[in-house]
Amino acid sequence: MTTKQTRPIIISNSEGEQTKGTLHYQVYSKQEQMGRAWKALGLFWGLAVVTVFIPIAHFFLVPGFLIAGPIVAYSRYRAVEAVERASGECPTCHEEMSVSLEASDKLPKWTYCSANNDPIQLADA
Ligand SMILES: [Zn+2]
Repeated sequence: MTTKQTRPIIISNSEGEQTKGTLHYQVYSKQEQMGRAWKALGLFWGLAVVTVFIPIAHFFLVPGFLIAGPIVAYSRYRAVEAVERASGECPTCHEEMSVSLEASDKLPKWTYCSANNDPIQLADA
């Protein structure tokens, strides 16, 4: 089961002002990690099979997908948590905001405040 979790983070701007925020993320179970890895492998090897039928391009697409499959699967397997979004008060405009994050994003990370596009940095508290 995927568990949703939160942890406190520090939101700061380039002037060094800081506010407290919350990071929302998902934690994958061992079983889910395996499932996600197999899915990635299946997708890439499936693409390798499909691209066999594309003339000329198959010379690099097929081996490319065959090699990329286990690499992506392994990185999926290693991903224990996936960040979703950060919320909190912007240190510059002091508005409540929520920033969407990519699953693979790592803190500290520079991004923009969703209210006024102020540059902000998200960091572990
Ligand atoms: Zn702002």
